[in-house]
Amino acid sequence: MAWSFRKSEAHAAPVRCNWCRAPLAVHGPGGLKPSASELHALGAVAVKRVGWFCGRRCVGSYEVRFRVILEPEALDGQEPQTA
Ligand SMILES: [Zn+2]
Repeated sequence: MAWSFRKSEAHAAPVRCNWCRAPLAVHGPGGLKPSASELHALGAVAVKRVGWFCGRRCVGSYEVRFRVILEPEALDGQEPQTA
């Protein structure tokens, strides 16, 4: 992906792609970093009750593997509910 993490952020709770486990963001004091909207702008996909994917390709792989159809979140700046 296009960004890199600073060392101080490496130990924060990471948000990873649910398919390839690529790190997408971290939970920092100010919330998700990069923000949800920034992640969307970079091509990441949020899916309700599942979490983040780094892109449509990983969403597709997940759908095939688990035989589900995922519905990406509308871009509303909110973090997806993964619980
Ligand atoms: Zn991925």
